[in-house]
Amino acid sequence: MELNLQPLNLPSDNVRPFVIAGPCSAETEEQVITTAKQLAGKGCHMFRGGVWKPRTKPGGFEGNGEKALPWMKRVKEETAMLVATEVATPEHVELALKYGIDILWIGARTSANPFAMQLLADSLKGVDVPVLVKNPVNPDLELWIGALERINGAGITRLAAVHRGFSSYEKKLYRNAPMWQIPIELHRRIPALPIFCDPSHIGGRRDLIAPLCQQAMDLGFDGLLVESHCSPDDAWSDAAQQVTPDILDYILSMLVIREKVDLGEDLASLRKKIDEVDNDLIELLARRMRISRKMGEYKKEKGMTIVQPKRYTEILDKRGAQGSLLGIAPECVKNIFEHIHEESVRQQMEIINK
Ligand code: PEP
Ligand code: MN
Repeated sequence: MELNLQPLNLPSDNVRPFVIAGPCSAETEEQVITTAKQLAGKGCHMFRGGVWKPRTKPGGFEGNGEKALPWMKRVKEETAMLVATEVATPEHVELALKYGIDILWIGARTSANPFAMQLLADSLKGVDVPVLVKNPVNPDLELWIGALERINGAGITRLAAVHRGFSSYEKKLYRNAPMWQIPIELHRRIPALPIFCDPSHIGGRRDLIAPLCQQAMDLGFDGLLVESHCSPDDAWSDAAQQVTPDILDYILSMLVIREKVDLGEDLASLRKKIDEVDNDLIELLARRMRISRKMGEYKKEKGMTIVQPKRYTEILDKRGAQGSLLGIAPECVKNIFEHIHEESVRQQMEIINK
């Protein structure tokens, strides 16, 4: 399904990065207003605050609910920043709209659930509000696109995606693995869809916010959704990943923002060289496949099986090591050769079964 998209049409549409910042949770009126006032006038364009909080385990702070919505309204009135909050049910949508929330976002646990997404989409019919859809917790691009399609199908054309990383059993450096190839592929498939990066939920740690923001900018993301709290250590949720508005301002001021388009001479001539190398690669692959077919004929004649595991392992190891000497990740070379081998086996099968 092709998405019907329009620009978000917000005051900071043409600014890159478009920054939405604010606390993980709207904890108290004072915390909300203090944080918002500190953020206003810095690099921040819009205020975020979680009113309903999806928590992994019960018994913790699950958000203030409706009680916090007038605080968000006050932020709008007193700072002129627009405000955003997470919605997970039709009831949340109704309340958020009632209190004048300007942007709704859909969290990672909700976008993973098509039933919940459809209910949300139905509740948004006939409403004109921008909606941000976070990636589902699991690394499934189709599920993410499906969630966007459901919202778009309800008539919401001011739509954007938020990359917040993917959950994994083994926690390594990141709280949620970035797997950048997924948002990159989303952008390739739907170029008109703005993409935000949420470095807070990817990193899970304050010191990872700056490098993640820079990476997102280098990859051409449009905006950032960052958690910022007036007193991060005292936060009621996600304390380890929140930064003060001052620190956020510093991080933003240090970002190197590269131009998204540059079709100057140098780039055009480098692209031409890449095209030439790609041509050579395809021709070499075709040559390799012709040899494979000859081997297929030989194996057929001798009554041999096609796959010789020892030889296959030898190719993967040898080429992986060679790649690493030439500065290419051995895993990448192995992946490429796995695909080449798969096609080579298919070609030999064709010969044998002829
Ligand atoms: C959040 O933004 O506060 C949040 C709960 O994020 P996610 O849905 O990405 O976990
Ligand atoms: Mn959070």
